Formats: sequence, structure tokens, C-alpha cells
Amino acid sequence: MPTATRTAAEAGYDGHAPFPRPAAPARAGIVAVTLTAAIVIAPFLALGAGIWLAWGNGITLTDLLLAAVFYMVTGLGVTVGFHRLLTHRSFTARPWLRVILAVAGSMSFQGNLIDWVAVHRRHHAFTDQPGDPHSPYRYGTGLGGQLRGLAHAHLGWLFSAEPTSATRYAPDLLRNDPAMLRISRAFPAWCAISLLLPFAAGWAISGSLYGALTAFIWAGLVRIALLQHVTWSVNSLCHMIGQRPHTTRRHDRSTDLWPLALLSFGESWHNGHHSQPGCARHGRGPRQIDPSAALIRLFERLGWATHVHWQPADGLGHPRMVAGKHTLRTSTRPSTPGRR
Ligand SMILES: [Zn+2]
Ligand SMILES: [Zn+2]
Repeated sequence: MPTATRTAAEAGYDGHAPFPRPAAPARAGIVAVTLTAAIVIAPFLALGAGIWLAWGNGITLTDLLLAAVFYMVTGLGVTVGFHRLLTHRSFTARPWLRVILAVAGSMSFQGNLIDWVAVHRRHHAFTDQPGDPHSPYRYGTGLGGQLRGLAHAHLGWLFSAEPTSATRYAPDLLRNDPAMLRISRAFPAWCAISLLLPFAAGWAISGSLYGALTAFIWAGLVRIALLQHVTWSVNSLCHMIGQRPHTTRRHDRSTDLWPLALLSFGESWHNGHHSQPGCARHGRGPRQIDPSAALIRLFERLGWATHVHWQPADGLGHPRMVAGKHTLRTSTRPSTPGRR
């Protein structure tokens, strides 16, 4: 994990003020904005198309099952592959498993692998303070600022012109991992495959072009939209609403948000994760269901994963000085500095 270099402005951040803005903010190019808009909006619009097509006809079991399978494969590709394996190195995977997880995550329409890793490492280096690429506290801790920040943390940051340096944050993948570099560079191809596979599966199973089209919409576009918004909710909601039982770094307002636990494959135990980012399991308590950790455990039993970091080094179980429910209203209170 790269060591964060704090600027004077970051060092002086009080936990409440809007983040300082550059005097001459850079503007994203029209091509980049258009591409991002297409990736973000098209899958969401497909939900309307799917409902329109399903009106009166219902949704077929085939479409539902295909959507569930593609959601699980690509979702676990992001949580187990992109996040726990490649970003935090919570375990070591056999080379072929590493490739499969990286490809599965690349089919989630969340940007290329190396940029995903770099942005997320930067988020951990500067959590909820200047430098964090997607903090909901960017516009301050007043109610209006938090609502604006919530939109920024969920989606707005994707359109900002604040590039994260892969050279700085993901040099391990960029320089020493040719397989991951190739997979990352082939991101457009994985997007195409992510849409073509449901279309082909729908056609093969139903034997009709209509079946191929509905599978394309539900198991392709709608599945992509759902996973995108669940992942982005971890960036937005899981830094604003929920419980904060664990000790984290100063200014870090990550939360545990149980309603998203299943859909996010355990990633919404985000306070647990921020308290020990290298730990393979994010859900701490026995009732904190964490499907990603269960899959890593299965890989370990099969001998496909080794050196799994199950035990946090320290710090877990230590309650924050002020723990408890974190809401829009209570989050305006002064943050409690953590131990680390
Ligand atoms: Zn976070
Ligand atoms: Zn993380």
C-alpha cells in the first residue's frame, strides 16, 4: 500500500470543512465524459427497456437465472479479485485463479483493473479527507454538503478530471504483473464479452432471437447496472449511514451497513474492512454474512489460495471512543480520532 504524502492543506483538514479545491480545476475531456456517461447511463436505461418488454409477459426463469449467475461471477470478480486479492493482497491465488478473477471483475463495467486498484488504494490512503477520490464529505459536513457529497461519492467522481496515478498507486501490477496488465488493457473486449455472453446463452437456451434479446437486457445490462450501483453504494452509503463499531484512522467515517451485505457479497461491512484493510474477511461478527470470505475459504480448502490473512494484526474488537449509529444528522458531530 503506498504511503500517503500529506499536503499542507490535507494536514490541516479539520474533519468538517469542504475539501480545498484547486484554483484552476481541470475539466474532463468530452470523449472521456461521453464514454463514462454511456457506461453509467446505458445499463440503467436498460432497466426501463426490460420492464417495458416484460410488461404483460413477465420475466422468464431463464433470464432471472442467467442474471443471477452473471451477477455472482462478475460481482465476486470485483470483491474477491479486484478488491481483496489485487488491491489489498489479502491472499495469494494460483496464477490461473488470479487470471479468472481478474477477467470476471473486468466484465463488471467498472473501469479497467489497474485503474480500479489505483483509485481504491488512494481511497484508503486518504479516506474521507482531501485526496480521497470519492468521499461523501468532499463538500463539508453540513446537510446540503453531505447530500451533494453523497451524489459525488456515488457517481459524480467518475466524471471528475482528477486522475489517479497508476504508477504511484499500482506499480506492482503495472510493472511486475504482465498478465494483469494485459487483462487491464483489454477492458473494452471484456465489456463486449460481458454483453455477448448473456445474448448467446439466451439464444442457445430459448432458441429465439427474442430470448437472446431479453437475456441481453436482464443478464447483461440490468445485471451490470445493479452491480455498479451496489459497488458505488459501498463508496457512498457505507461512508455515511450505518454502524461504526471499529477503530479506524482519523477522519475515516466508513460504516457497516447490513442491508447491503448479501448483494455486495460482504463488502458493506465496510467499517470492519477499513479497520483492517488487509484482512480477507470484512464481516467481523458471526452473523455478519460475508460470501466473498466464504469463497476465499473454499479456495483455501481446495489449495487454490494460500497465505490468507484471516486474523487481523491488531485493533479489532476495540470499540471506537464514540461508536454507534451514523446518520446524516449525527454525522455532523465532530469525528472521533481513531488510534491509528
Ligand atoms: Zn471506503
Ligand atoms: Zn478496500
